[in-house]
Amino acid sequence: MSKWYQIFPKYPWLSIYAWIVFCIFPFFFIFRSTTPLEIVIGLALTLLFFIAYRSSFSTKGWLLYLSVALQISISVWMTYLYGYIYFSIFLSFLIGNIKRRFSFFVIYSIHLVATIVAVIIGFFTQTELFLSHMPFLIICLIGVILLPFNTYTRNQREALEDQLEEAQIKISQYIIIEERERIARDLHDTLGQKLSLIGLKSDLAGRLIEKNPQAAKIEILDINQTARSVLKEVRELVTNMRGTKLEDELFRINQILKAAQIECTVTGTPKLVNTPLLVENVLSMCLKEAVNNVVKHSRASTCSISIKQSAKETLLKVYDNGQGMGEKVNWSKGHGLRGMKERLEFVNGTLDIHSKNGTTLNIRVPNVIQQPSQEE
Ligand code: ATP
Ligand code: MG
Repeated sequence: MSKWYQIFPKYPWLSIYAWIVFCIFPFFFIFRSTTPLEIVIGLALTLLFFIAYRSSFSTKGWLLYLSVALQISISVWMTYLYGYIYFSIFLSFLIGNIKRRFSFFVIYSIHLVATIVAVIIGFFTQTELFLSHMPFLIICLIGVILLPFNTYTRNQREALEDQLEEAQIKISQYIIIEERERIARDLHDTLGQKLSLIGLKSDLAGRLIEKNPQAAKIEILDINQTARSVLKEVRELVTNMRGTKLEDELFRINQILKAAQIECTVTGTPKLVNTPLLVENVLSMCLKEAVNNVVKHSRASTCSISIKQSAKETLLKVYDNGQGMGEKVNWSKGHGLRGMKERLEFVNGTLDIHSKNGTTLNIRVPNVIQQPSQEE
């Protein structure tokens, strides 16, 4: 909450209009009173409650607990004096936002006991009013019992998702650094040595060309051969650079699913045969995005991944038992699904999505026999 007037919860359980009614309601209860003193006390308590409620979103530590204690006592007094119990709903949302587990359970229990006691006392002091409000009272009590847990678990889930996103960013940064170092090492070990050899030999050929043209010719032929082998090594380096093995990706997504508390089962072998590295890389990227989506959107408890290779094609299936994508797949909402489709088209692959009892992604790529690399 950022604005001073914002006293409604971020995810209102009831519509925002119901919350406005909750804010106006206390005044009806207060103005039923007979003496002006009672009215003034009621107005002062309501004002104090809203001020304390709003300020508790920007306070921490003991000040927050003090403010919550004040609000609980105002809520009890409002129930006792005026039969107005609904401040307890505001408090339920507030208590759900307490992050520390122990404090949450302590304040939750105090609030629940205080509300039940207030209702029991209210039945004696405001019998007629309470009997006429019976269904609302029951709904209110259910809200006091369940709402704090609902808000608390959602906050925990959001925090976990943030941590997960951070971890993913860090993992990708580490991968980039590691890959850079590997390339630097390879360049140094393979190209560096051979290029200095070419330099030395061309120096020698330059010196020999007048004295001993035959020996110079042999050196030039040698330079030519070394240059070809350098070219071949550069090609191999580039090919290896492009690839993320499915096996490595599976290891990574297993960690991500574990962190998100989603059970993961894998069938089939990630060791693909006769599959070019480029195709395997596309499959790895698709798997990564599919699992990212499971974590981000599905609310699933399990995710199954199956890898099947037949003579004709490789089929990668990612299934989650979550909420599904609704009636129509939304290709334009983000970049993930669209990117997957485009990458697959590039290697003659396909992507189909079924969204029934969860979501299933069928990722298919035809088997291509890798051409033996040719040296020029
Ligand atoms: P981006 O991938 O660009 O970060 P995104 O994940 O929202 O954003 P897509 O990957 O294209 O975008 O997914 C499009 C939409 O499809 C998602 O916003 C989500 O609503 C829905 N979706 C995708 N995967 C799942 C899933 N496994 N379960 C439920 N809904 C899903
Ligand atoms: Mg996505």
